[in-house]
Amino acid sequence: MDYTAFRRVSREVSVGGVIVGGAAPVSVQTMTSKPAGDLDGTIAQINEAANAGCDIVRVAIPSLKDVAYFEEVCKVSEIPVVGDIHFDARIAIAALEAGASKIRINPGNMGNWDAIYRVLDSAKNRGIPIRIGVNGGSVKHKNKSDNRVLEDAVVEEALGYAQRFEEYGFYDIVISAKISDALSTIRVNRKIAARCNYPLHIGVTEAGVEEDAIIKSAVGIGGLLADGIGDTIRLSFTGEPIREVIAGKKLLKAAGIIREGVEIISCPTCGRCRIGDMPELVREVRKKLASIKKSVKVAVMGCEVNGPGEAEEADIGLAGCGSGVMLFAKGKSLGTFQRGEALQKLLEIIERL
Ligand code: SF4
Repeated sequence: MDYTAFRRVSREVSVGGVIVGGAAPVSVQTMTSKPAGDLDGTIAQINEAANAGCDIVRVAIPSLKDVAYFEEVCKVSEIPVVGDIHFDARIAIAALEAGASKIRINPGNMGNWDAIYRVLDSAKNRGIPIRIGVNGGSVKHKNKSDNRVLEDAVVEEALGYAQRFEEYGFYDIVISAKISDALSTIRVNRKIAARCNYPLHIGVTEAGVEEDAIIKSAVGIGGLLADGIGDTIRLSFTGEPIREVIAGKKLLKAAGIIREGVEIISCPTCGRCRIGDMPELVREVRKKLASIKKSVKVAVMGCEVNGPGEAEEADIGLAGCGSGVMLFAKGKSLGTFQRGEALQKLLEIIERL
């Protein structure tokens, strides 16, 4: 089913021209990890992320003296840049003046509300949205060992800040409420989604490394997307930002939100497998079809006995057989070829689809 059919209705904000919320596509974000001041390293990470499909990038601004570096990043970046600021309202205002497309703050650590209102004035004058970012670690509530109590504290704190922004007349708000536990993240965002119409930035914070991070994020973010909740996502990995972007795009594809591009399904193999190295073949197919933009489902199956039938829903597929690789479409054989030839024919057929 089309995501828009059951998606939560939210307000729209513009982040440097990328619309977040409303009927806009769910955007993918990442955050640079180079030290503040490393302009070349930061720009290289942004370029890589943008080439992988990143829509919005966030950059930390730890101190006032780092604002000059942030300004350069904003000038050079090909995608909108969000300034990430903690503790000091003066940095937030300077970041807005330096060209931030959005800022992310946690009002709970920004000092007094007079200082926060000056940030809101500056953002409002420029038409720049603010993300209210609350997470389980930063929430003021004392009892952090009880998950349910912590979740409610995160919800109330995030909505409480949004309410104060509203009372001051500021509405260009994005809310993020993150917890390092995937199911808590789902429960918290469901509650927030039910009580306001602000666009939600969703993600599981401190998700970890490699498979741990991917699986945790897929459960937390995927669970919310399945409810129609989520306007922009970030998968938080320990590692290079580009990996977050690639995983984010794949997550949106798996959730049926991104439809264009090749979806590869492959069997786990078993004792009937007639292709020696299945993981290698799947990698070859993925590489061969990397430039295809149209929506097509391709199966890579280990044997011709069960493969075509098991993968009947695929538009086209490959299956191992004694004499090479069988090409099939909708469960029917299109002939048997040597591996290289089969890959080339696969590409040609998909281009003609
Ligand atoms: Fe086993 Fe063939 Fe099924 Fe793959 S397609 S799991 S090799 S029976």
